[in-house]
Amino acid sequence: MEQHESLDPATRAVALGRPDRIPGAPVNVPVTFSSTYLAGGEVSYARASNPTWEALEEVLGSLEGGHALTFASGLGAVAAVVGSLPVGSVVVAPTHVYNGTGGLLAERVAAGALEVRNVPAHETDAIVEACDGAALLLLETPTNPMMEVTDVAAVMGRLEERYAAARPLVVCDNTFATPLVQRPLAWGVDAVLHSATKYLAGHSDVLLGALVVAPGRPDLLERWSTYRTLHGAIPGPMEAWLVLRGVRTLALRVERASASAAVLAERLGDHPAVSAVRYPGFGAMVSIELGGDAEAAERVCERVRLWTHSTSLGGVESQLERRRRHPLEVETVPADLVRLSVGVEAVEDLWRDLRQALDPLDPP
Ligand SMILES: *Cc1c(COP(=O)(O)O)cnc(C)c1O
Repeated sequence: MEQHESLDPATRAVALGRPDRIPGAPVNVPVTFSSTYLAGGEVSYARASNPTWEALEEVLGSLEGGHALTFASGLGAVAAVVGSLPVGSVVVAPTHVYNGTGGLLAERVAAGALEVRNVPAHETDAIVEACDGAALLLLETPTNPMMEVTDVAAVMGRLEERYAAARPLVVCDNTFATPLVQRPLAWGVDAVLHSATKYLAGHSDVLLGALVVAPGRPDLLERWSTYRTLHGAIPGPMEAWLVLRGVRTLALRVERASASAAVLAERLGDHPAVSAVRYPGFGAMVSIELGGDAEAAERVCERVRLWTHSTSLGGVESQLERRRRHPLEVETVPADLVRLSVGVEAVEDLWRDLRQALDPLDPP
């Protein structure tokens, strides 16, 4: 589509990644199930590319302002970034990085492949300090599930100032915020990472990941595209199609869920059983703490009827869970922390259900 940069992101999510407008053409790209292509074209084998991925990559690239590569899952994208570093590299990552990413880094450290330095995601000075000699700075903002926010623009400015060309590669996980809320490439990071499993797909029915590379870094596009082809963590064409279908309604879902999250965060803050609310003021993720009582947190998750007690986030249905029920979760995440992913149901129904689950608890 011509001049899509002038279109609002909500419009781009709908208008891009379509077949050319030739009379009689389908409105949607087909799901291309083919492992091989006739000789003589640009691509010969489907581990390297697929037309259904390409349609999704066109949309994601435009939304973030770069060039997208899709992967089998969000963690598949993380593995491409981490796995293509030279052995012995230093990686800087938030203390409360998503636990799958943290687990992958720990596994690489145990294998003797990497050194990892953890820093609080909201402390600019500590992040910049830790980057001395580092090959990669992984950012995630807001963090999952602590909801700490990184001042990405400040971090990038300070890195350029202090390290100039010797600064580490910077990759920002934008899963929680979505490109409708923040576009980290505009703050100067080298690439954005997504678990498209979450908001982009939006229906809790598919896993897929993506990297979106800054326009000025064709070397990274080449590096990670080669990594994807050689390591084989490629998305299925059906999965790519489902995510593309989900992206069509991204703006509606994010707007609705974010508006409801703001209402719920305020009411939760007034509830006597809730000792803390972690809500950055945007997005649809909210974490709450229940006076230090992990048992109480579990009871709330069991008592809800409309909310879904399950892991993951970003679906149309509201979900919640006590994060520390996962043995791999970082131990400084409070044991009583319940992470809420607000969906698109009517906010009063969501509130009534949360209230009936919280009301029987003793105030902390
Ligand atoms: C879920 C998640 C991932 C991993 O994505 P998968 O699609 O589950 O592999 C990475 N980062 C964040 C912030 C996530 O929430």
